[in-house]
Amino acid sequence: MKPAFSIGVDLGGTNLRVAAMHVDGVFLETLSFPTRRAAGRDAVIGDLCEAVIAIRERHGTAGECVGVGIGTPGPLELPAGILRRPPNLPGWDGFEVRKAIEDRLGHAIHLDSDANLAALAELRLGAGKIHAVDSLCMLTLGTGVGNGIILDGHVWQGMSGMAGEAGHMTVVPDGAPCGCGSRGCLEQYASATAIHRMATEMASSSHPRSGDLAARMEGDPNFDSQDVAAWAEAGDLAAQAVFEEVGRCLGLVLNALVNTLNLPLYVIGGGSAAAWPLFEPSMMRELRERSYVFRATELAGGKKTHVVPAALGPGSGLQGAAILPFVEQSALHEVL
Ligand SMILES: [Zn+2]
Repeated sequence: MKPAFSIGVDLGGTNLRVAAMHVDGVFLETLSFPTRRAAGRDAVIGDLCEAVIAIRERHGTAGECVGVGIGTPGPLELPAGILRRPPNLPGWDGFEVRKAIEDRLGHAIHLDSDANLAALAELRLGAGKIHAVDSLCMLTLGTGVGNGIILDGHVWQGMSGMAGEAGHMTVVPDGAPCGCGSRGCLEQYASATAIHRMATEMASSSHPRSGDLAARMEGDPNFDSQDVAAWAEAGDLAAQAVFEEVGRCLGLVLNALVNTLNLPLYVIGGGSAAAWPLFEPSMMRELRERSYVFRATELAGGKKTHVVPAALGPGSGLQGAAILPFVEQSALHEVL
């Protein structure tokens, strides 16, 4: 039998990425181009399907294509494949993305949300592989806070595909309003957007060192969450206090997740996870103090609850999309 490959697609709000992946987990080819949102949904889906067909033809001689896996921003209703008010694809609410793609390609696809697929990639190729586990929970700190839960090797989708929204667990009951309609969600205290807002609030607070941060922010209109991290790393106490709060809020949510799921591995990914040394101490202190299951697990026969930064980079959503057809055909377990 010819060696198999899959095709993965990461349909992002900014970029559309398509790749062919060999069964050993290595990309054979990756393509990336802007998502032409202004041209409309049909144009974007047309670009996507053209790229899938072209890349499949180019690699058809290398082996059998086991399927096409596609990741989209959530929330995504499954198995129907209908987008529900996706913040990163405004105007796509109610769009039947599975039907639109399958109609054009003329065959079934494998579909899931990008946060779930990033978690699947971490399981098979990243932190999950390093720790030799088959279940994990991942939080992705980006513009928002994504979440994916993998149980026994498979994405836990829930009844309607919308499981894994721990980014909208409440950490401050009357806190900052959130795009989901609630208030005080983790997303409002741990996303890149939140870090910038919290730094702005800190700069005008009564914190004894707020003046330095305020001056730094006023001097740079493009000051963003990465600058807050750099400023904290340079020793600014007010900026460090922002990341202590990020860690504390992550610890609150990890407490709930660890106590509920008792999984062996929790992974923190996304761009803001690079600030790991800044938020890890308060995160782990909060988790250890609050979580009975975390503490008790350490006493249970050498087992340990691991909380680690993601091993894969920003391409993990695309990797997960390409892995999905293999996982759903149970063809990958012995090779990855
Ligand atoms: Zn929310």
